[in-house]
Amino acid sequence: MQTDTNICLNCGAGSARDARLCANCAAPLVLDSKGSVAVWRLGEVRPEVLDGIARMIGKSLGLPVVVQPALLDPRPSRRPDWRGASATAFLNQVDRRAGSGKGRGTVFSLGITEENIVPGSAWNYLFGYAYLGQPSCVVTLHQMSSDSPSLRHLVRRAATIAIHEIGHNCGLDHHGYDEGIACVMTADTELDCLERLDEGTHRFCRACQLVVDRKLAGLRS
Ligand SMILES: [Zn+2]
Ligand SMILES: [Zn+2]
Ligand SMILES: [Zn+2]
Repeated sequence: MQTDTNICLNCGAGSARDARLCANCAAPLVLDSKGSVAVWRLGEVRPEVLDGIARMIGKSLGLPVVVQPALLDPRPSRRPDWRGASATAFLNQVDRRAGSGKGRGTVFSLGITEENIVPGSAWNYLFGYAYLGQPSCVVTLHQMSSDSPSLRHLVRRAATIAIHEIGHNCGLDHHGYDEGIACVMTADTELDCLERLDEGTHRFCRACQLVVDRKLAGLRS
């Protein structure tokens, strides 16, 4: 039995990851995301938040954004004894869908969830997670929703984290706060609290933007 299927939002059935349509009800599961940012959801995400994030990321990167109709299988990331789902398992699911089959040619693969996700049992929360230089990252709305921000504010927070994580996907590291650079890559080990997140920018500085542009040019050619 496959333990990382794509879940049909229409009927709830799980289908193999390479299936374009639901095996049960024929609803679309996976859309072509070549040359695009593919968005994968772990559990349902408020549509107005999802749309806002997609729009902001697309504008920032100059890329089309494709929200995949299927939801990720929730089983691989379940950790009953942790304070949230496994960020690593979630990231690996998103990454698995980026490099092969229908995902071939996807520029970045972004996971979004409303659930709390953590990298290990000792953690309370995080905002986003990515492997340096890999094309996949994940963002959670859980902690950034905790003070009931407006829709616009929440979208800005989530898109800022997504752009930051995509910066890591492009190989970018952090600027320290002491450098005083206005850049989405300014952070400590991670962007770690809402105050810092809200003070920061969602834009890359010139140096980082050059790295991102070069990466995107290389992926297009
Ligand atoms: Zn279905
Ligand atoms: Zn970071
Ligand atoms: Zn920068």
